[in-house]
Amino acid sequence: MSPKCFACGGFGKKDCQVCAGTGKITRKSSAESQKGKKNLTCTACQGTGQINCSVCGGTGRR
Ligand SMILES: [Zn+2]
Ligand SMILES: [Zn+2]
Repeated sequence: MSPKCFACGGFGKKDCQVCAGTGKITRKSSAESQKGKKNLTCTACQGTGQINCSVCGGTGRR
């Protein structure tokens, strides 16, 4: 048996650090939008809120 990846605990995925696992980025725009707030889909995780573990490549094992 392969040992579990220490970085993700064998889950293979980690919370996206860019959006903190929400899948969305709240960006305050100054003059561009009158709403002042914009919810954008996180490009780092494609809106899933999770990314493949960089240590094990998403397999959860190493
Ligand atoms: Zn993200
Ligand atoms: Zn991992």
